[in-house]
Amino acid sequence: MIEVPRLSRIYYKGKFFDYPLQLGNTIANLGVFESLMIIGSYCKAQLFPERSEESFEQWVRNRFGDRLYRTFFKTYTEKVWGIPCDKIRADWAAQRIQGLSFISAVANAIRNTGEVKSLIKTFDYPRLGPGMLWESCARKVTELGGQVVKDTGVTCVRHQNGRVTALDVTTDGITKTLSVENVISTMPLSNLAGMLDPPPPLAVREAANGLRHRDFLIVALTCHRSDPFPDNWIYIHAQDVRVGRIQNFRNWSADMIATGNGTTLGMEYFCSRGDDLWSQEDSDLIALAKREVAELGLVNPQDVIDGHVIRERNAYPVYDEHYRAHVDTLRSYFTETFSNLQTAGRSGLHRYNNQDHSMLAGHYAAMKLLGHSECDPWDVNVERSYHEDQVLSAEKTQFPADQDLQRHVV
Ligand SMILES: Cc1cc2nc3c(=O)[nH]c(=O)nc-3n(C[C@H](O)[C@H](O)[C@H](O)COP(=O)(O)OP(=O)(O)OC[C@H]3O[C@@H](n4cnc5c(N)ncnc54)[C@H](O)[C@@H]3O)c2cc1C
Repeated sequence: MIEVPRLSRIYYKGKFFDYPLQLGNTIANLGVFESLMIIGSYCKAQLFPERSEESFEQWVRNRFGDRLYRTFFKTYTEKVWGIPCDKIRADWAAQRIQGLSFISAVANAIRNTGEVKSLIKTFDYPRLGPGMLWESCARKVTELGGQVVKDTGVTCVRHQNGRVTALDVTTDGITKTLSVENVISTMPLSNLAGMLDPPPPLAVREAANGLRHRDFLIVALTCHRSDPFPDNWIYIHAQDVRVGRIQNFRNWSADMIATGNGTTLGMEYFCSRGDDLWSQEDSDLIALAKREVAELGLVNPQDVIDGHVIRERNAYPVYDEHYRAHVDTLRSYFTETFSNLQTAGRSGLHRYNNQDHSMLAGHYAAMKLLGHSECDPWDVNVERSYHEDQVLSAEKTQFPADQDLQRHVV
């Protein structure tokens, strides 16, 4: 691990806002009039809150006021999810921003003023990226006599009398059936339901069909210049460009830049399989990313020397109006039907889990299969106040075999 300084900003209406917000910078960018309007709108929301708090929009407006919601929440959230904020469940806001209020945001902004150091926190990062963690895990599994099989798809999950008995797996077009003792699945819940043999009841199949994911693609642009901007990443709230976030990989770890010089920018686009972004030719996407990074004033097109596109399916589990009922149906079915199958991770729980949550859920899944019924992957990341700055609460579930696990994971 290397220690990396953290700097990120929000780009909105042609201006860069420090993130976390800093009072002077925020007022300078918004102007005094708009800042006062935001305070007025917040007061109005406190005096006359919306009664219902079912949607993301209602939840945020009640806590921050309509004007701040429109400035810092609406546009980016709609880019990420591809649906209007009144169609996103409040659960998502509650999970991601519960710890934050208007007052605490202002207090933080005041505290940050003049203390530039507190804006630049540091974090530990694997020198060549998070894949190093999994290379290390795979090595350990192999050293212990296990086998790690890659580029292999599970296509059928066979079961009998409440137990998964075998999996059909396909490698290079060749399918074989493996008998299994225990199974932990991190594929999307809906895919798992769809490959059960015999199939699950109709209600379960309908719930599976109702769950949705948002997909994602990243256009990596290799640039001559090593210092186009100082941030690790920038959130792009502006609606006139389609890019949602831009990573500057040199500022995560210079060793990840293969050529040694320049940097690689990750232009992140949130999309849905089959939509116009997802279906574009790679060359068109690279041209779009080059155009947009130039429009944002970050890099001149002639400084971009190469581009590469990576598409990622099922990147974000969608919290739409119906997701909770569907997840409840699937969860009950899987947990009540199978004694040797656990689902875990982000798509396996259909929960907006970070990597630490996913690892912990995997560990709980293994412990449960080994007979520790008090460990349940579904208990991970239910703390409504989870926040990236906080340490994952160890109170909810005490881990029996390794009390230090949560500390290690966090
Ligand atoms: C854009 C983006 C940025 C993120 N940034 C961060 C971050 O900064 N910090 C953080 O902590 N977390 C971050 N996350 C979240 C983190 O990546 C996830 O929480 C974590 O990867 C989930 O782990 P997982 O094992 O559940 O799923 P995954 O890592 O998605 O692994 C599931 C695996 O199952 C495989 N699979 C699916 N179906 C089958 C099948 N039928 N047969 C065989 N294999 C199959 C998939 O190919 C995949 O490899 C980010 C996620 C995204 C999308």
